[in-house]
Amino acid sequence: MDVNELYQQVILDHYKNPRNFGELEPHNHSAEGHNPLCGDHIDIYLQINNDIITDIKFKGDGCAISKSSASIMTTLLKGKPVQFARELFNKFHDVVTSDTNTLIDEESLGKLAVFAGVREFPARVKCASLAWHTMTTALDDSTEKFVTTE
Ligand code: ZN
Repeated sequence: MDVNELYQQVILDHYKNPRNFGELEPHNHSAEGHNPLCGDHIDIYLQINNDIITDIKFKGDGCAISKSSASIMTTLLKGKPVQFARELFNKFHDVVTSDTNTLIDEESLGKLAVFAGVREFPARVKCASLAWHTMTTALDDSTEKFVTTE
């Protein structure tokens, strides 16, 4: 099995069995995200205590990429400091917007390397990024809904 097949399996697994799926009660941060290009909707809920994400869940409907991205993100951020979440967002963003010829450092990226494949499909980048943008919107306590743009 090549690496791309492996990544596709990870995405399918998280799509079929999303982790941390549902509404989180109680929560003290939340945001709504919408990607009109594909029709993805995602709500992110966070419980943050002393700058630690003690719990995170998501809800919504969308394509396999958007849902699995949200699911994988929650597994990476649960129990982690807010600062870590912001750094991981930047790393994720760098991966999905990098040139397709840029080599992926799998060791430092871990599960994020799964999304390197979407670089070849610009429309899919918005699907993969939706949960991450929505998560940072929630961290910032913005009341604005995150909507992807062209
Ligand atoms: Zn999508």
